[in-house]
Amino acid sequence: MSVSPLLPENKIWIRLSELGESIREYYANESIIVLCVLKGSIIFTADLVRKLSSNVEIEFVQSSSYGAGTAPGNKPKFSGLESLNISQRRVLLIDDILDTGNTLYYLNQELQDLGAAEVKYCVLLNKQDRRAKDIQADWVGFEIEDQFVVGYGLDYNGKYRNLPYIGTWSAEEA
Ligand code: IMP
Ligand code: MG
Repeated sequence: MSVSPLLPENKIWIRLSELGESIREYYANESIIVLCVLKGSIIFTADLVRKLSSNVEIEFVQSSSYGAGTAPGNKPKFSGLESLNISQRRVLLIDDILDTGNTLYYLNQELQDLGAAEVKYCVLLNKQDRRAKDIQADWVGFEIEDQFVVGYGLDYNGKYRNLPYIGTWSAEEA
């Protein structure tokens, strides 16, 4: 197994500042709930919220769409939604990667049912080619090709989340 560098740490940092500025501008200090989709978005969320204004509450929802492999299922399972109080609130969903679109599509449905006033999406990575649902993110860190990536929160079989950069994962030895 090997990981080849794709997006270095400094490139991610620069992009985080740009995203933060754009998101701050959009919400203009209004109160929002940042909803971090666990586990993959933990590092991205932690870094991004520090670029936002103070009027932010952070909540978490766990999504499981992948088993041990890399093939996406259809409707992911969500846990943690029952304890959210988001009626009439503006929600910024943060996910590590927008791939088939199933996660954000179904999560948005749940949030609409819970009475959210607005749901926007911010994703670190976008794999446009793999989209199965008609869904676009409002903020995208980087567009990437259809390849399996790890690091900066993204895992393969639970591993590599703590890499400070993003790399492409391959089953072959380097
Ligand atoms: P979806 O297919 O848009 O629902 O994306 C579901 C989830 O799959 C993402 O939040 C990631 O956690 C995971 N995922 C998709 N592509 C990759 C990848 O290349 N590496 C690691 N995880 C991925
Ligand atoms: Mg994930």
